[in-house]
Amino acid sequence: MSDYYEVLGVARTATPSEIKKAYLKLARQTHPDVAGPGSEERFKEVSTSYEVLSDAERRRMYDLGGTDALRNGGAGSPFTGGFQDIFETFFGAAGGSSQRGPVPRGRRGQDALVPLEITLEEAVFGAEREITVNTAVVCPTCHGTCCRPGTAPVTCSVCNGRGSVQRVARSFLGQIMTTSPCHNCQGHGTIIADPCPECSGDGRVRTRAKIPVSVPAGVDNGARLRMPGRGEVGPGAGPAGDLHVEFRVKSDTTFARRGDDLVCSVTVPATAAALGTQIVVETFDGPREVNIAPGTQPGHTETLRGLGVTHLQSSGRGDLKVFVDVEVPGRLDERQRELLTELARLRGEERVAPKVTAGGGIFSRLRERIGL
Ligand SMILES: [Zn+2]
Ligand SMILES: [Zn+2]
Repeated sequence: MSDYYEVLGVARTATPSEIKKAYLKLARQTHPDVAGPGSEERFKEVSTSYEVLSDAERRRMYDLGGTDALRNGGAGSPFTGGFQDIFETFFGAAGGSSQRGPVPRGRRGQDALVPLEITLEEAVFGAEREITVNTAVVCPTCHGTCCRPGTAPVTCSVCNGRGSVQRVARSFLGQIMTTSPCHNCQGHGTIIADPCPECSGDGRVRTRAKIPVSVPAGVDNGARLRMPGRGEVGPGAGPAGDLHVEFRVKSDTTFARRGDDLVCSVTVPATAAALGTQIVVETFDGPREVNIAPGTQPGHTETLRGLGVTHLQSSGRGDLKVFVDVEVPGRLDERQRELLTELARLRGEERVAPKVTAGGGIFSRLRERIGL
C-alpha cells in the first residue's frame, strides 16, 4: 500500500488546501480521459489518497497508523468527498452536485468603500453631506428584467427550465450519472432571447450617483459608517451590496483632538499673565471668554466644559482645553528696559539663582496636558 502523502507529493504537515491543490493537479494529469488507458491505477491511487487525506477524521486515523475507512466500508458510497471534486474539475460543475433547481439570475452586488473627508467641526457636531460614487444601479430601461421591454425570458430548451442537466460519465468505476448546471442557460433555467439594449442583459447600468451621508457627531478619523444596500446593484439586477464610508478628519489649524476633548493654545504677553486679563477664544460654539488669572504661569490650562467633541452615539461632549503660553517681551526700548530693571530690583531678581529640577516644570505639564 502506497503512502498517501507520497502519492500526492505533499508533506505530512500539508494543509487541507495544499492537499486539495496537489490532488487536483495530479487528477488532471492522471485522469484516464486525459492520460489515456493505462493510467487508471495511478488515478485510482491519487483519488484514494485524496479521499482519505481530505477527510479530517480519516486523515487522523491514517496518521495514527489505523486502517482507513475507505477500504473498510466507505466503498458503498464512492460519490462523496474527493469524487465530487473530480466531477467539479472535469465537468465544470459550479456547485452542481449540491444545487437543486435553477439558479436565480440576480447575484448580490459588490460592497463599496468610499473615503469622505470632513472637517474637525463636522466631526464635533455631525453633518449632512453628499458623496458622489461610481456605482451600478438597476437598469432604467428594463427595470432589472434584463429583457428588451415587451419581451420576457424563455424557458431553456436544453434543461426545460430545471437549470441542470444529467449526463452519463464514463470512469474507472463504470458509468456514472452526474448532474451539472445547464451550459445553455448557465443554470438559470431561462434564456434571455432578446436582451435589453441599454444594459446588454445585465439588468444594471454603471453610473455616478449622489448619495446623502449623515456624518455621526463624534466620529473620529478612520471610522467607518456602513450603509446597507447602498453599494452596487449586482449582476442580473441582484440585491445591492453595502456602502462603507470611511471618514478622514482634516487637521484643523486651531484645534487638535485628544479623545473627545479639543485642545488649543493661546499665547499671552508676560505682563497680561502677571496682571491677569480676559481673552476671547473663537470656539466651534462661537466666541468664549477665557479668564487669565493674575500670575498665570506658562503651561497653565483653562478648561471650558462641554465645548469638546460630542460623544459618539451618546449625549454630552468632551471639554475644550485652552493651553496658555506666555510670551516674554523681547526688543525693549529704553523706557521699557528702565521699567523692567526697576521691577527686577523691586522683586529682588537682579541676580537669579535658578531652581534646577529633573522633573516637573513646563515641559512635563505640556506632555501631561496635551498628550505629547
Ligand atoms: Zn436593461
Ligand atoms: Zn438550461
